[in-house]
Amino acid sequence: MTVNRALFDEVMVPNYAPSAVIPVRGQGSRVWDQDDKEYIDFAGGIAVNCLGHCHPALVNALKEQGEKIWHLSNVMTNEPALRLAKKMVDATFADKIYFANSGAEANEAALKLARRWALDVHGEHKNQIISFKQGFHGRTFFTVSVGGQAAYSDGFGPKPGAIDHAEYNNLASLEAIISDNTCAVMLEPLQGEGGVVSPTDDFIKGVRALCDKHNALMIFDEVQTGVGRTGELYAYMGLGVTPDILTSAKALGGGFPIGAMLTTAEIAKHLKIGTHGSTYGGNPLACAVAEAAFDTVNNAEVLAGVKERESFVKKRLAEINEKYNVFADIRGEGMLIGAELTEQFKGRAKDFLNAAMEKGVMTLVAGANVIRFAPSLVIPMEDLSQGLERYEQAVAQIATA
Ligand SMILES: *Cc1c(COP(=O)(O)O)cnc(C)c1O
Repeated sequence: MTVNRALFDEVMVPNYAPSAVIPVRGQGSRVWDQDDKEYIDFAGGIAVNCLGHCHPALVNALKEQGEKIWHLSNVMTNEPALRLAKKMVDATFADKIYFANSGAEANEAALKLARRWALDVHGEHKNQIISFKQGFHGRTFFTVSVGGQAAYSDGFGPKPGAIDHAEYNNLASLEAIISDNTCAVMLEPLQGEGGVVSPTDDFIKGVRALCDKHNALMIFDEVQTGVGRTGELYAYMGLGVTPDILTSAKALGGGFPIGAMLTTAEIAKHLKIGTHGSTYGGNPLACAVAEAAFDTVNNAEVLAGVKERESFVKKRLAEINEKYNVFADIRGEGMLIGAELTEQFKGRAKDFLNAAMEKGVMTLVAGANVIRFAPSLVIPMEDLSQGLERYEQAVAQIATA
């Protein structure tokens, strides 16, 4: 069988447009394709591979658990899930954990819990969910409707109701629609897909205050920002604001699918027996790998290393920009960095991504105007430096064309 990009068009549903390159192996922050061409990975499987590829701690956890027990279902609990939950509770504001298999599922659980909490505690009228334009919360029908891009949620028939959108970093726009009928406000403590946009201090604290005023739950979607990505274990820890519910996925499993919802005991008690569930959620194999990832990232040295790498990347991007004048803004936190293109290159983020791929460096975009970098949290400085050299060549090629 010839396994190549053409086979994708033949046998796969056409909802993705993958690159022509098919990677076949990875080690640390380097990846090789079918022709053995080498790439430096600044994409990290969309901010997932927090420890790069085939990190020994994760490989060991996978092998060890893989020879013990893979799956039980939630008819029984299991040791890796209990250990991981205990560690997450000890490290965060949360008292209780629910495991899912992805970010969207973790958010689905958070939204259902918020609705059930409001119904139990306040009554039927309190059902409004507010989120923000350009926000992204996953692709289930509930989460994509809560997400702030109509292009993703339109065209599937009637949507779940009582969902409204305010503008990120615009407190007045939230104040205008929040009321005692609001059950929850969901937001990313740094918008990832929406263009790598940090909240202002006034905004994030103001959202917390408005939630408190109206007895609404504050839900932080930390699917992209969680588990060390911003240089904090969770981004909320650097913001001086604590949510009522938090969701985690992506980096949590370091590449193995897992999601989690974290909350307080007071709120958690409304998710009674039978109200929600998942066949795979909290599966021992996923939890064993996630436990190893969580242990490795939840370490002062690793987290400090993320901040060091952030400074280095921002400095190098600024140097590249001095030469070629392609970026209007360089922003983000930790190993989640965005570079917004100038007016001259507006709409061409994908061209930069393709040029970089050709030069041997994998990157991401966040919309049509923002290039996104989400390397491993422990990427060796040498790989970071060499990857940025390659990136500079890609920028040069486009800027001087
Ligand atoms: C990626 C992402 C999701 C969706 O996660 P999946 O695992 O793809 O379901 C949700 N929220 C945010 C902020 C994300 O970045």
